[in-house]
This record gives sequence, C-alpha cells and structure tokens, in this order.
Amino acid sequence: MKKLITVLGATGSIGVSTLDVVARHPDRYGVFALTAHRQVDKLYEQCLAHRPAYAVVERAEDAVALQRRLDAAECRCDVLYGPAALCDVASAPDVASVMAAIVGAAGLPPTLAAARAGKRVLLANKEALVMSGALFMAEVDTHGATLLPIDSEHNAIFQAMPSGHARPLETGGVTQILLTASGGPFRSTPISDLPAVTPDMACAHPNWVMGRKISVDSATMMNKGLEVIEARWLFAAPAERIQVVIHPQSVIHSLVAYSDGSVLAQLGNPDMRTPIAHALAYPERIDSGVKPLDLFEVARLDFERPDFARFPCLALAYRALRAGGVAPAVLNAANEVAVAAFLDGHLRFDRIAAVIADVLDAVPDAAADSLEVVFAADREAREVAASRVRAYLAGARP
Ligand code: NDP
Repeated sequence: MKKLITVLGATGSIGVSTLDVVARHPDRYGVFALTAHRQVDKLYEQCLAHRPAYAVVERAEDAVALQRRLDAAECRCDVLYGPAALCDVASAPDVASVMAAIVGAAGLPPTLAAARAGKRVLLANKEALVMSGALFMAEVDTHGATLLPIDSEHNAIFQAMPSGHARPLETGGVTQILLTASGGPFRSTPISDLPAVTPDMACAHPNWVMGRKISVDSATMMNKGLEVIEARWLFAAPAERIQVVIHPQSVIHSLVAYSDGSVLAQLGNPDMRTPIAHALAYPERIDSGVKPLDLFEVARLDFERPDFARFPCLALAYRALRAGGVAPAVLNAANEVAVAAFLDGHLRFDRIAAVIADVLDAVPDAAADSLEVVFAADREAREVAASRVRAYLAGARP
C-alpha cells in the first residue's frame, strides 16, 4: 500500500527536493497534503503535479483563489488556511510521514502535532528542537513517533551511529560526534571586509543551494550552532562531545568516533535528496536521483578548526546550549529577527551576532518546561532584537 505524506513547507528548497524524490517512487508514496506560506502560484503547480487531498496556505483570500483555480483545472483538492490547518494536515489519521520543512519558529506547532500523532517525522525544521528540545523529545517518546533527521549532518550521524542507537552515547561506545561545516562563503574573507557583505553575497553558498534564511545562517555559521543544539537533543550528546569541524568540500557530512578508535563517516555529493530519500525509506534504500560520488573527482578532503572570532554566532550557540532553559529559543528568535533585518537591508552582516549577544544578555533565563514559557521567551527576544535593529538603523548604536 502507498504511504501518504504531508509536506510542510512544500514550496521551499527542502519541499521541492522531497517532491522530486517522492515522484520517482509513485508505487511507494502518495501525497496527502502540501503547504505553503505565500507562494500560491508555485503551490498551484505542485498540486497539479502531485494531486494532494489537501493544500494549505496562510491567508483566507489566497485559499479562496487557489480553490477556484484548482476546481477550474478539475484537480480535486481541498484548500485550507492558517496555523490550525497546518497542524490538522500534519496529524490526520491517513498520514504516515510528515516532512517538517517550514522555516523558522512557525514550523514548531505543526511538527509537534505530527509527533503527538505518533507519525514518522522527517525533521528538517531544526528550529523545533532548538526552541524546545526537551519538550519535543518527550512528546516523541510519549506518543511513539519516529524521528528521522533530514539535516545532512544529522542524517549522516544517524547513519554512522550504532544500529538501534539508544541513548546515552556511552552505551554504544560513542566518544564524540564530529559535525562538519563547509565554513560558508566567507571562510577566508578578511574579517575587515565582513561589514560590506550584501544579502546576495551571503546567499551564494559554495556547495549547497538552500533557502535565503538558512544560507545567511551558513554564512554566519549560526546554522552550525543551531545544528550543535539539534545534535544535543537528537543524540543525547552533551556540548563537550560535539566538535565542529570545517570541511570545505562538503563531501563528508559528519562523523562518529568510537572508544576503540574507529571513526565512521557518511559521504556523498552535497544534495539534500540523499538524506530525504534515506529518511523516507528507512530502513530500506531507494533511488534519490543524486549523482554517484566520484572520489577521483573530489581528489582531496580538507579539515580546519572553526575560528570563533570570525564566526561569533557559533560561540553564541554554544553559550546558549550550555545556559540551557529558554536560552536556545532566545538565540533562535534573535537570529531570525537579525537575519530578516539583514536580508531587508536594515542591518549590517557583522551586526547579526552583536544583536543576538545583546538579546541573550537582556532576556532573563527560565526553565523551558512548557511551550507557553518557550513562546513567551521567543516573543520577548523578538521585541528586544527588533529594538536593537532599530537602534542601529537610527545610528543610536556604534
Ligand atoms: P525555504 O525558505 O526554501 O522554504 C521554507 C518553506 O516554509 C516554504 O514552503 C515557505 O512557504 C514555508 N513557510 C515560510 N514561513 C512560513 C510560515 N510562517 N508559515 C507556514 N509556512 C511558512 O527554506 P528551506 O527549504 O531552505 O528550509 C526549510 C527548513 O529546513 C529550515 O528549518 C532549514 O533550517 C531546514 N534545512 C534546510 C536545508 C536546505 O538545504 N535547504 C538543509 C537542512 C535543513 P512560501 O514558499 O510560500 O514562502
């Protein structure tokens, strides 16, 4: 029988790659629901191609217009709208797997709804674990959901972990997780040139094609910081067991070191369809459409220690992880506001880290023991971050 899939964030970079893999296996997978935020034309084309039972957009007026177009095209699909509809299509009884690929904090409620409904959750939305790692993992355990990482690094770690990996790390003889990072487009740019970085420069990643927010996060290495926090929860690994390794070729997607001296790595061309296909079919293997890795073409693999002076966002993420409580949610919210301001031309690239550091200092810590507390910290962090951005814009801060 075909497995039905909901793709949250279908119109994004991960969503499009997911639909590419799904379309290669029409005998195995069907599409239950596709969701978008504002890219309604793209969602319309996806509905025609993949024939979901439901489509979800943000606004009522977009839903009405999309429904009319789909009806006219004789495409049987019910169009819903708003955050509650995202949770509904993520938790509907017919759904087997949910691709959680909405960007940012908006992805947390539907991803959590999928976990609470005991689904197989393919987790691209790292913000869900960064904001509420302990709560999220508890829901996964309580409701018997299966959590499969899509981030290429975490998917690689998952593949290199002992089979049937049970927490804690020591039980499997794991001594360290080596999380690789490309170093982004500014790995060797003079630090004095960073204030002049434009959004287009920051989004031109050397190896990966991604959405704009995560591209900026890769350029600041906040993306790696968020991934360190994500790894902490996925693999029950304390901060001191997670080492970031800069590996500019992005061929080794991460490694796991064992007490007997073995180090296992997962390699592949940098194409998100590999982890997506792995998680979709796990524990089986299916064709992803990715070109086979040619080691002779790769020829060499380089490694460097990360430079925290060049990448202060990475240091801030370790600080938030060690602080615990709501600090990672505060870090994430401040980063979202700062990155959006940078992409809108309202904040200099090198001030993204300064805004986040200020917000971490300003928002009081609290135990992250309920979603209400987490979202309250998220809101406060966004307000403080926005005020810091305004201060920079007004020239009130140096
Ligand atoms: P994109 O920006 O390309 O796509 C984001 C998707 O989320 C789009 O479908 C967008 O809809 C939707 N969306 C945005 N805001 C909202 C909202 N408020 N409510 C509902 N839907 C919304 O992002 P990516 O695909 O690059 O990334 C998605 C997630 O996966 C992120 O959490 C990222 O960190 C993670 N990830 C991405 C990787 C990559 O290679 N791209 C690698 C590993 C992880 P619309 O198109 O209509 O705006």
